[in-house]
Amino acid sequence: MYILGRDSLVGADENENQRRKRPRLSTTDELLKNAETYAGGFDKGDLPLPPARKVAVLACMDARLNPQKILGLEEGDGHVIRNAGGVVTDDEIRSLAISQRLLGTEEIILIHHTDCGMLTFSDEEFGAQLEADTGNRPEWTARSFTDLEGDVRDSIRRIAESPFIPRTDRVRGFVYEVETGTLLEVS
Ligand SMILES: [Zn+2]
Repeated sequence: MYILGRDSLVGADENENQRRKRPRLSTTDELLKNAETYAGGFDKGDLPLPPARKVAVLACMDARLNPQKILGLEEGDGHVIRNAGGVVTDDEIRSLAISQRLLGTEEIILIHHTDCGMLTFSDEEFGAQLEADTGNRPEWTARSFTDLEGDVRDSIRRIAESPFIPRTDRVRGFVYEVETGTLLEVS
């Protein structure tokens, strides 16, 4: 996750003007061409709904972190849940409860990573910025953190303490090094 500096934020009106001037082919349009190519070579239409490897991965949404590639997960193998930081909030508990109770997963892999954007600001700062810009402060907090490994341990604890997740004996946490491509276990 990359945090934009305050200077690079543009107002809504300016954004709209830029959008009108820009040639029509957006990144989304470009990516849709990739999707057509993918569909053209697709041969996995008969995969079952429950993940074959019985695993759920919770990872930061950082663009440099590719959980499927790192772990060698193919279509149908596992659930991959992502958010800013790879943190465990009520919504991740919701997804993990569905993953385990309804779709049979038994193991959980948590992945944080070096150089995470969540290390670069505080919840208070971000909340104050939102309030200054919009007049509203959200009910949620950003869930930023200052200690990577500490937050991985905290995430494991939150899952273990949740009454809604039945299998908590195989929950392991990792820090992925974006500089080396290495996944390091947090003990
Ligand atoms: Zn991150």
